[in-house]
Amino acid sequence: KKRQVCSKNGSLNYFMSRSKIEQHNPQSATPSSLLQMMDLYPPGSSSRDLTCSYCHLIQPPRTKHCHDCDKCILQFDHHCTWLGTCIGIRNHCRFWWYIFGQASLVIWTVALYIQFLHVDMNGSWLKGLTGLTLLLPLIVILIVLLILLMLHTYLALTNQTTYEIARRKRISYLRGVPRKVHPFSKGICRNLYDLCLSRQKGYVLEAVPPLDELEARARPYTCRDVICCRCC
Ligand SMILES: [Zn+2]
Ligand SMILES: [Zn+2]
Repeated sequence: KKRQVCSKNGSLNYFMSRSKIEQHNPQSATPSSLLQMMDLYPPGSSSRDLTCSYCHLIQPPRTKHCHDCDKCILQFDHHCTWLGTCIGIRNHCRFWWYIFGQASLVIWTVALYIQFLHVDMNGSWLKGLTGLTLLLPLIVILIVLLILLMLHTYLALTNQTTYEIARRKRISYLRGVPRKVHPFSKGICRNLYDLCLSRQKGYVLEAVPPLDELEARARPYTCRDVICCRCC
């Protein structure tokens, strides 16, 4: 279930559950966007828990307030101090290509370095030792970059964020979700398309699927599922 929101919701500062909002505002037009936002969450969710205490807005699912950027970020992944910006809905794909580019560059540098050391084998021992000492941090950087690349590839394939993995137990709407179930995953192909190729106007807000649907997804793979490419 998706909702297309093309305009920013004004100042929505309500601390009530959906039923209470309806009860208090039977004819008012104001809470329609608020009710739509609450529809993205499982029934019974309280808007108090979902309101950003800094922006005073009800956060759509997968949103988090970044204190460095001082705003709420949709599909918040993390705040990158190297790039000086948050990684979220709009730039996660570009961030993946950034790590891929960096990793490729370091692999190329390591290869050239090893080639240089190999050619220079007959040189002085001091020169060789300096070369090896400089090679070590380069290999450490390469390992870190490759781990980061693998992590973000996994996140892209399963439509998850680093924040959701790290704080799964703390995020209210992820509590009770069976382990190994990726609640926002729509299959590998669709996840990759949404991340890198979709060019929709506005934002597509993702609803938290009902718990019974998530529990059904936790069932083990059968031969039929493998043939039908259930994960794709
Ligand atoms: Zn905020
Ligand atoms: Zn940030």
